[in-house]
Amino acid sequence: MTGIELENEAVTLDRYVPLLGAEVEELRALAAPLKGRRVLMVNSTRLGGGVAEMLNRIVPLLGDLGLCPRWETMAGDREFFEVTKAFHNALQGAPVPLPAGAFDIFRAWTASNLARLDLDSEEVVIHDPQPAGLIGGRRQSAGHWTWRCHIDLSRPSAEVWQFLEPWISQYDASIFSSPEFAQRLPIPQYLFYPSIDPLSEKNRPLDPAFVQSVLERFEIDRRRPILTQISRFDRWKDPLGVVRAYRLVKRYFDCQLVLAGGGADDDPEGAAVLEQTRHEAAADPDIHVLELPASSPLEVNALQRASTVVLQKSLREGFGLTVAEALWKKRPVVASAVGGIPTQVIHKRTGLLAHSVEGTAYQVRYLLSHPEIAARLGEMGHEHVREQFLITGNVKRYLTLFLLQRKA
Ligand code: UDP
Repeated sequence: MTGIELENEAVTLDRYVPLLGAEVEELRALAAPLKGRRVLMVNSTRLGGGVAEMLNRIVPLLGDLGLCPRWETMAGDREFFEVTKAFHNALQGAPVPLPAGAFDIFRAWTASNLARLDLDSEEVVIHDPQPAGLIGGRRQSAGHWTWRCHIDLSRPSAEVWQFLEPWISQYDASIFSSPEFAQRLPIPQYLFYPSIDPLSEKNRPLDPAFVQSVLERFEIDRRRPILTQISRFDRWKDPLGVVRAYRLVKRYFDCQLVLAGGGADDDPEGAAVLEQTRHEAAADPDIHVLELPASSPLEVNALQRASTVVLQKSLREGFGLTVAEALWKKRPVVASAVGGIPTQVIHKRTGLLAHSVEGTAYQVRYLLSHPEIAARLGEMGHEHVREQFLITGNVKRYLTLFLLQRKA
């Protein structure tokens, strides 16, 4: 059994009562008519990225509520994940050519996963484009099929969307992370915010001595401001833009930059972006480019808690769980006004938004010179996450969807 499964075994609703009180009872009441209901979640990786992060908690919580959840992942080789990464980039609006034979490779892996996976379930929730074609195997199951899209679909490539759309239209429902991502589809579209788990190792309170030990391990100086971006090394997360913004801030403040992230199993581009970032940072000992193992929740937690300002300078972003994680820890956040970020960072209320390298640097400088405002934004950000973006709220939305579909 892996460490993740062990952590999941402890995910029970009772543990949320001290934090959420009556909301836990609401969940039990909603789940009561769904007892024994079989739910299947399918995505493309168990480790790395926000989807895996959420499923790791939602699946055991649904089980604790009396449903019978399963979690399956798409199998694929490097070629398949290069294709799905290219789809992901194109759907987020990048004008990059698709690999040769992309559509055939996608169809072939869809077929082989259909032969491999047991898709029989009363509720099937397919996450993102990689497994979207599995709807072709619907005959195996009489259940309801929902496509849950986590990526920024505000400007999708017509070529890739037209390829996927005939599959998506066969689902019973779709879920997007922001109203801006809604598409012209013949099926109902729901808005679900992604969410974080306040009790996971990633988010739970930490002993300050542990935080200090993590900083020492990575040779980060606590006495000077720490700017941090936690993200996979991915062009959409714009690590090079973060370095440029830091350099502008550095002219005025003796600060440090932490760029920490690992790869995801389904992201073959990560190594190249990491290499480029390292190269860019090489001459400056105050830039810490940290390659974290895929599962390093306590380190991420500690780095977020120790940050003076948390950055999320994404160029596109489905939601950006890292933002909610930082806000939950009462950190002041400066983030790009893209994708799902503005639902979390309400400008001047729960953080600061920016639209460029220069804008990011400006907002960071503002926070470094106004620590009392930075602290207030952090407090407000924490409350906003409590109200909107906790895992229990997400579980509630799934339960409501399953109840609605039961009636349909
Ligand atoms: N994450 C992590 N280690 C890393 C990089 C990211 O644990 O090295 C986590 C991060 O804390 C967050 C998730 O992975 O929980 C990333 O989700 P987000 O929505 O921010 O971005 P995605 O990677 O899904 O595009």
